[in-house]
Amino acid sequence: MKAIALVSGGLDSTLAARIIKDLAVDLIALNTRSPFCLCNRKKADGSCSHEAGRVSQELGVKIIAINTATEFLEIVKKPKHGYGSHMNPCLDCRILLFKKAKEAMAKEGASFVITGEVLGQRPMSQRLAAMKLIEKESGLEGLVVRPLSAKVLEPTIPEKMGWIEREKLLAISGRGRKEQIALASSLGIKDYPCPSGGCLLTDPEFSRRLKDLMQYDELNLKDIQLLKIGRHFRVSKLAKLIVGRNEPENNRLASLKEENDFFFQPLELAGPSALLRAKSADNSILELCSRMVAKYCDGADTQTKILCRRNPLQEYQFIVSPKNEEALAAYRIN
Ligand code: SF4
Repeated sequence: MKAIALVSGGLDSTLAARIIKDLAVDLIALNTRSPFCLCNRKKADGSCSHEAGRVSQELGVKIIAINTATEFLEIVKKPKHGYGSHMNPCLDCRILLFKKAKEAMAKEGASFVITGEVLGQRPMSQRLAAMKLIEKESGLEGLVVRPLSAKVLEPTIPEKMGWIEREKLLAISGRGRKEQIALASSLGIKDYPCPSGGCLLTDPEFSRRLKDLMQYDELNLKDIQLLKIGRHFRVSKLAKLIVGRNEPENNRLASLKEENDFFFQPLELAGPSALLRAKSADNSILELCSRMVAKYCDGADTQTKILCRRNPLQEYQFIVSPKNEEALAAYRIN
């Protein structure tokens, strides 16, 4: 018997896959990459090492990694089932994931799908009614086994058909983590990330930044990377400034700079780098941005010099006084 295991790299999906693998089911891990991944093993520059690959290697199963970023972005813009508490379209997100699992099932000749979902753990997508809706809309009714919660759910087709023993499955429900942690310990699973509680779309600050991008029709995959770092300022309808908060963020901003972006750096004092992404920016905008950068320079009480570079042919220097905190607040996206 073959099954597709949805593996995020977190503890729950790892345990679910392990339980089913121990029942001698031939597993194939499926992981979808999202630009909104909230990895708690994030590097200082905002990027993250991917856990699903490591988990599948440890389980000794093949992994299929698919990038659903473009499709997911369309969902984020207009989710059929709406948002959760912030910009998280959890129901539509899960439906997309399950549809991908269904496609993988057909391709790999698998008979069912396994997830690490726990009844009642997530307020939006792991309620019973939501789980049923997701299964129905993805065309996987009765074919999704949730080994951690199976005994508090109706028997699935694989259980009814005797493909897997229901008795070997668990009855965990609710938001607690004690049972999963104890199970991990008994199975010798030690290296797992702490539960993150969702993706970046559940973060209020990130959601505000995302809404700003949507409001100005700037939502695309490249700009999402910028949302993950720095302080954000809407300096005009056509321009947004991101100011680094530390050296790794300054370096990350430099690596994300595109041909038409303006890049700011202080010339006389220690201070942040900043990136201006603009459809249009005149001299007054560049000067405003320089004053914002000056605000975050060490000891910039009076005037200081800020370099603004777009490309080797477009380079300016501004001698500016720092913008004060109160004035800055009017531009801040928070
Ligand atoms: S928290 Fe994010 S990744 Fe998780 S289901 Fe919701 S939208 Fe999808």
